[in-house]
Amino acid sequence: MENPIDRLTLLFEHFPGIGPRQARRFVQYLLSQNASVRSELAESVKALGSHTALCKHCYRYFLKTSAKSERCSICSNPSRDAGLLFVIEKDADIQNVERGGFKGLYFVLGGTIPLAQEHPEKYVRLRELLKRVESEGKAHTLREIILGLSATTEGDHTRMLIQERLLALSQEHSFQISALGRGLSTGSELEYADPETISQALGNRH
Ligand SMILES: [Zn+2]
Repeated sequence: MENPIDRLTLLFEHFPGIGPRQARRFVQYLLSQNASVRSELAESVKALGSHTALCKHCYRYFLKTSAKSERCSICSNPSRDAGLLFVIEKDADIQNVERGGFKGLYFVLGGTIPLAQEHPEKYVRLRELLKRVESEGKAHTLREIILGLSATTEGDHTRMLIQERLLALSQEHSFQISALGRGLSTGSELEYADPETISQALGNRH
């Protein structure tokens, strides 16, 4: 029989930012807890899959209110400003940007593009982004795309590549492409920035 300690340790090791030592500590913690704590965790993990879905418009995960809902609460909210599209790396950034007071819509890219890679669409949702921008461009609903990528080498590379790919569409459908202003320090990510900083960076976009 497979060792359940090793099995769970390996699973935790796949979590972002978690190494083998931390993974083992998580398992030790769970071992020391009541059986009810472990079953609550197991149930919560199961419920994640059955009650959530990936929004077909912005690619964030959302809580499904009915079996038919295909769009999240932000995308289906008519009072959001559909003229502003905020492109972000990951789902976790949205919560912070919302606290910074943003009222437009989002697109979750799903990461950044590594340097010197020939097929950027293998790493991020580039095709999906271009498709969405094209259809919104044709519908004349889009005024501005804000690229909110990390101030890292990979983030800069991704931003430049996306700007390049969007250039023709932006001229054809006359919308702006902007980047977040310098409120965000080098290397800082939206996920960890405070709402005040995000709101400043949004105000200083160029
Ligand atoms: Zn959505």
